[in-house]
Amino acid sequence: MSRHNFSAGPGALPAEVVALAADELAGRERRGVTVMEISHRSPEFVAIAEKAEQDLRCLLDIGDTHAVLFLQGGATGQFSAVPLNLVPDGGRAAHIVTGHWSRRAADEAGRHCPVDIVADAEPGGFIGVPDPSTWEVPGDAAYLAYASNETIHGVEMTEPPAFPVPLVADASSNLLSRPLDVSRFGVLYAGAQKNLGPAGLTVAVVARDLLGRSGRVIPTVLDYAAMAASGSMLNTPPTLAWYLAGLVFEWLIAQGGLEEMERRNRRKQALVYEVVDASPIYTNRVDARYRSWMNVPFLLTPTDLEPVFLAEAAAEGFIGLKGHRSVGGVRVSLYNAVTEESVQALVGFMRDFQDRHG
Ligand SMILES: *Cc1c(COP(=O)(O)O)cnc(C)c1O
Repeated sequence: MSRHNFSAGPGALPAEVVALAADELAGRERRGVTVMEISHRSPEFVAIAEKAEQDLRCLLDIGDTHAVLFLQGGATGQFSAVPLNLVPDGGRAAHIVTGHWSRRAADEAGRHCPVDIVADAEPGGFIGVPDPSTWEVPGDAAYLAYASNETIHGVEMTEPPAFPVPLVADASSNLLSRPLDVSRFGVLYAGAQKNLGPAGLTVAVVARDLLGRSGRVIPTVLDYAAMAASGSMLNTPPTLAWYLAGLVFEWLIAQGGLEEMERRNRRKQALVYEVVDASPIYTNRVDARYRSWMNVPFLLTPTDLEPVFLAEAAAEGFIGLKGHRSVGGVRVSLYNAVTEESVQALVGFMRDFQDRHG
């Protein structure tokens, strides 16, 4: 039986990358060591690390205006790192809340500084984005933060909002899914385990003019300036995850880069939404302007079909479809490593299930 992984995170990795990693680990007997058993300061690892950074810069067209950091602590660590690095004593932050993760980011920032919630989509049920023309961003806010893709609620903002304060985006689940104008951002960060690599690595892209901005005492491992100055090797970085992310970046370049990912991801999401929208049993309520290409959540009617759907899907080889426990339902995650063949197979199953149970 072929298997198709739609896990929301940690998510699928390209088959070619997993095969290369298997070769690397299998070469231990011959070479005596693997990449995870050598010093992060060895010439071999430094070359791997530098190549990964160069490839990421190439993919996203990141100029020298921005530092690229390879960190630990997950996106959740960045929820603290952002206010600590950007908000001076007595300063304030502005946050937009469009789902679970941007809510968590705003709550965490609130432990470090006063936070203005300039837009909150929770009363509407997290199915869209309040009209940006209604957002009142204080001119003295140290930054404006949002999540470019809400992984649980399936709400994606592809156009960075334009306000005269540094823009911060949690792009954990849509970075590298299509081209992005990095020059618009003060800070862009992503936990690697959705679309970049395995868990344990967090990538942050930080405008150099924001390094040292807050003047605060910050735990050194969260300090962008200290991390940038040390090439993300202030302490031992997650070397295996860094190596694997580097393989993913090489794979993306070989596939044709982010323009090609955009073409593929556009087709993949269209296949799923098409079935959902034409269906009497599947429902996705997200405002069409903000529907996520990476995570498509839907509910089943009647709701007691849901466990039946998940059990039948699992029996057919479809992995990772259960919706987040906070919203229930089904969630189809369509990260770069998910092939169009997998999506075709899934929508075939969805149609068949609907014919039998609708
Ligand atoms: C998964 C996710 C997080 C949490 O990431 P951790 O690496 O587990 O801290 C934060 N934000 C978004 C958008 C996510 O998808």
